[in-house]
Amino acid sequence: MKCVKCNGNAVINIRRANAAFCKEHFNEYFTEQTLKSIKQFRMFRKTDKIMVCVSGGKDSLVLWHVLHNLGCDVTGMYIDLGINGYSDRSKEKVTAFADKFGLKTIIVDLREKGYPIPFVARRAKREDCAVCGTIKRYYFNRAAYDGGFDVVATGHNLDDEASRLLANIMHWNDEYMDNTYPVLPAGGKMLKKKVKPLVRLTERETAAFAILNGIDYVMEECPMSKGATSLIFKEALSTIEDKMAGTEIFFYTKFLERVKDKDRSKTDSDEMKICQTCGMESFMDKCTFCRLVEKVK
Ligand code: SF4
Ligand code: ZN
Ligand code: ZN
Repeated sequence: MKCVKCNGNAVINIRRANAAFCKEHFNEYFTEQTLKSIKQFRMFRKTDKIMVCVSGGKDSLVLWHVLHNLGCDVTGMYIDLGINGYSDRSKEKVTAFADKFGLKTIIVDLREKGYPIPFVARRAKREDCAVCGTIKRYYFNRAAYDGGFDVVATGHNLDDEASRLLANIMHWNDEYMDNTYPVLPAGGKMLKKKVKPLVRLTERETAAFAILNGIDYVMEECPMSKGATSLIFKEALSTIEDKMAGTEIFFYTKFLERVKDKDRSKTDSDEMKICQTCGMESFMDKCTFCRLVEKVK
């Protein structure tokens, strides 16, 4: 297998692009695809202060690495979820990565705060992932606001977004389909714009980028993700893509074309109040996070 750019030995074959690349040209392709999304969706400007949400997994570490290499002012924000074993190993990867490349990091430790996910879920009698979603959203929003960031970037990739879109279509969840858009606007006075620069790249490509560039990431999935329905949609898309290369990106980008003119400037959060307990913006007098953690006190 030869690189389509230099005819050297290829390290990866990308069937949907009908191309194979050596390491150097794969890195170039990966960066170009990321830049294409940043420009097409006007995600941020060169001078913007970016916070990237990192989990220790490949996608977020790769995104952090690419944005840093592009010369962006980027800080990694990691939340230790307090999931024994998994959180320890993922935190180790994040701190080792930040040290290796000399990157700025913010770390919030839920064990220190008294809110480790399994404990809160048990006390509140809620699903771990539902609790995790509320708590992560809160601390990411809080850190972005307190740190004066312009934009929050996440490592969502093509497989994540296309499978989420497929799930929403299959359940006719029209109101959630827009969440798969690569840019979610700022809301109210405190919620920052959210962007997903890796939406043109697959999980296989982010894994290859990580391995080829010495990015050591946590390979295991969060133990709470076992049995998640999102995995079923990912598997279904992967089967289709195996048989018909290019279908996944066609499906996702055609959706983006269809909804690109939708007015996203006004969101529900424009009507927000201030949480009387923590001071963050909220739909009610007390925010979802404060109502949740009240149950564990
Ligand atoms: Fe949180 Fe793990 Fe659930 Fe993901 S799978 S939402 S990290 S508890
Ligand atoms: Zn090459
Ligand atoms: Zn609150």
